[in-house]
Amino acid sequence: MTTANLASRSVRRVIQGMPTSDGAGVKLRRVIGQPQLPDLDPFLMLDEFGTDRAEDYIAGFPDHPHRGFETVTYMLDGRMRHKDNHGNEGVLVPGGVQWMTAGRGLVHSEMPEQQKGRMRGFQLWLNLPARDKMTEPRYQEFGPERIPTAAPSPGVTVKVIAGSAAGIVGPILQPATDPTYLDLALEPKAEFTQELPPDHAAFLYVFEGEVTVGEEASPVRTHELAVLSEGARIRLRGASAQTARAILVAGRPLKEPVAKYGPFVMNTREELQQAFVDFQNGRF
Ligand code: MN
Repeated sequence: MTTANLASRSVRRVIQGMPTSDGAGVKLRRVIGQPQLPDLDPFLMLDEFGTDRAEDYIAGFPDHPHRGFETVTYMLDGRMRHKDNHGNEGVLVPGGVQWMTAGRGLVHSEMPEQQKGRMRGFQLWLNLPARDKMTEPRYQEFGPERIPTAAPSPGVTVKVIAGSAAGIVGPILQPATDPTYLDLALEPKAEFTQELPPDHAAFLYVFEGEVTVGEEASPVRTHELAVLSEGARIRLRGASAQTARAILVAGRPLKEPVAKYGPFVMNTREELQQAFVDFQNGRF
């Protein structure tokens, strides 16, 4: 380990999300997985959806396949019903998380369970290593009452979805990438230091207000993603007049070749072609 790895993390780049639509026309903001930031190993995609207009989300995400990675849906507002071709079905509610390991493949739909009102949350795509890409699909799904909250310092509240903060451990288990996924609320001027594995890729995405990062107090504003340098910890500070909110996410890079096309993410072109053949022949 170099001394740089022991240092505090700083902002390497700031990325603005790109408005796009996906599924049957759901409007969203793509932050990772777009030309400015095609990926951030092991993270393949980050979408923020957030709207009060039903027409922006009502068409949902009808049946579509996935193979070779994980989709992580974290709801802030609204309700979403998911249903897959293996007989799994459920409703995601505000504050709940669904960590879906697609593995060897499944076909599912993700549809709004409401006709009006606000729908807001995130979907993160997290890669799987070659040895786990063809694993059996599985879900880690937790309602809001099962996401523990840490209060590491005055004015700071942390919902611990994965990893740990101030000794509070989140419910998600994923040894391959050892992810950290924290939902932070920082009151004005509140300060928070989080330890992170020094070599993990990490980002901060601010979805309300403004947060500053590191000794340099680099500002990260609403709807901005900061790609963080390596380092053993990150120092954050609430920098807006209202409580700032952000997700802080980190994971171990896989450093493997990535062959991806739409909802299939494999290591080689041959494996991608096999995914198409298997999907077309109903083997998901
Ligand atoms: Mn999906």
